[in-house]
Order: sequence, then C-alpha cells, then structure tokens
Amino acid sequence: MTGAGKGIGRAISVALWKGGATVYAVSRTQSDLDSLQTDCPGIQGVRVDLQDWNATQTTITTLGDVDLLVNNAGVWKSSSVLDTPEENYKIMMDVMVKAVVNVTQVVAKGMVARRSGAIVNISSICSRSYDVESDYIYCAAKAAVDQLTRCQAVELGPHQVRVNSVNPTVVKTSMVATYISEQDAGPVQRIVDRMPMSRMAEEKDIVNATLYLLSDKADMINGAILPVDGGYWCT
Ligand code: NDP
Repeated sequence: MTGAGKGIGRAISVALWKGGATVYAVSRTQSDLDSLQTDCPGIQGVRVDLQDWNATQTTITTLGDVDLLVNNAGVWKSSSVLDTPEENYKIMMDVMVKAVVNVTQVVAKGMVARRSGAIVNISSICSRSYDVESDYIYCAAKAAVDQLTRCQAVELGPHQVRVNSVNPTVVKTSMVATYISEQDAGPVQRIVDRMPMSRMAEEKDIVNATLYLLSDKADMINGAILPVDGGYWCT
C-alpha cells in the first residue's frame, strides 16, 4: 500500500488491516507511519521516498511475497499550460507515474510466479477531464496511470494477475486542502456542481471500490477504469 500515511491510502490501509490482512504501509513521513502503527497494531510501516528509484526497489524487494498491491501515493503541485516549473513536473511524474512502474514491477514478479494477485492503481476523474485550474500536469499523470493500468492488465492477465484503476472525484484530504489554500474553493465547487450526486466523495467510497477490486468478487474484472464520481463522467 503506497501513500499509506495520510488520506485515502491511510483509510485503505486501516480497512485492509481490519479485514485481517498483513499490511505494509509505504510512505514518506515517519510520524504518519508511527501514528498508523499505534492506531493499528501489526501494520508494518515502510519508510521510503518513492521518487528514489533504487531505494524504492531495494525497500520493496525486502518485503517478500505481496498478494495485493495498491499504488496510491500522489502529490499535487500547481501547473498550467503557461506556467509549469520543471520541479513540479518532475515530482508529480515521479510519484504518480514512475513509482507505479517501479513498485508494480517488483511486486508483480512474485504474483506472476504464484499465478495470483490483484493490483489497484488510484487514478482520478481528471485523467479525462480538466475542470480545476492549475492541474495540468496532475491530469496528464493520471491519464498515464489509466494507460499503465490497461497495459499492465494485458501483460499480467495471462498470469492470473488483475490490474484495475479506481478514479475518485474530489475527496477532502490534505491534498485537496492544499489545493484550496493555494487556489480557492471555486474550482472544486464547480466539479461538485457538475456532478449528478452533487457532493464530494468520502474516503470510505474510495476504500469500498478498492476493496471490491482487490477481492475475489472481482475475479473477472481486469483493466477496468472505475470512476467513483457520483456520475460526473456521464455529464
Ligand atoms: P494525501 O496528500 O492526503 O496523501 C498522499 C500520500 O502519499 C501521503 O501519505 C504522502 O506522504 C504519500 N506520498 C507522496 N509523495 C510520496 C513520496 N515521494 N514517497 C512516498 N510517499 C509519498 O493525498 P490523497 O489521500 O488525497 O490522495 C491519494 C491518491 O488519491 C493520490 O494518488 C491522489 O492523486 C488520488 N486522488 C485524490 C483525490 C482527492 O480529492 N483527494 C481525487 C482523485 C484522486 P507524505 O505526506 O509524507 O509526502
């Protein structure tokens, strides 16, 4: 479970732990991992900066067999067509695209050998829309995540390893709080206003979709891009 320290990743980790899974909570801030381990005794905190390719490979390799993987870590930095600092581009592509490639290849080797496994990549509704200003590269990174999912599903499917994406609408986590404090709440409200169900999602909505896709109930679902968006993509 990557990005397990805060927000959606933390909520998914807690749900998996409550369900009896052995959870490796991969994140960057040690204090988040410490508090998660206090809240959920037995969860194993794994501190690594996913921007670092070699450190990530080494760290993930030491975990041994992993049956379920959630690539969730994400970061939002301001970027627009006319103003994208190179550093913002690099951070978002590293954390949301490069890390999915890197962590998946390490974990999937064991899944392929055992002919069993399920992977969920946490994407976003903005992989195919652009409603929030200053979100340009974030959207492109999530479009890449969707296509990684499809390609991984095709390559790994013959080995009985399934890969799917969950694409949330806005959920009030620290990422969205950062956006609202740096921009304003207007663009977020516009998404909610366009949504048939007219409300933000809650962490539990993303948790439920992810648990379903990881579970045997989704045994024949591979390569799906699942919006959790209250109907937004239909508008
Ligand atoms: P948060 O900012 O609340 O949490 C992100 C987590 O990822 C943190 O634990 C963070 O750790 C970790 N992370 C970030 N960079 C790194 C890194 N380099 N190495 C290791 N861990 C890292 O985000 P959310 O919970 O909101 O988002 C989770 C996922 O859901 C993301 O992929 C996001 O794009 C996606 N999403 C979120 C939506 C929303 O409205 N919130 C909507 C659609 C998609 P640290 O804080 O220590 O850096």
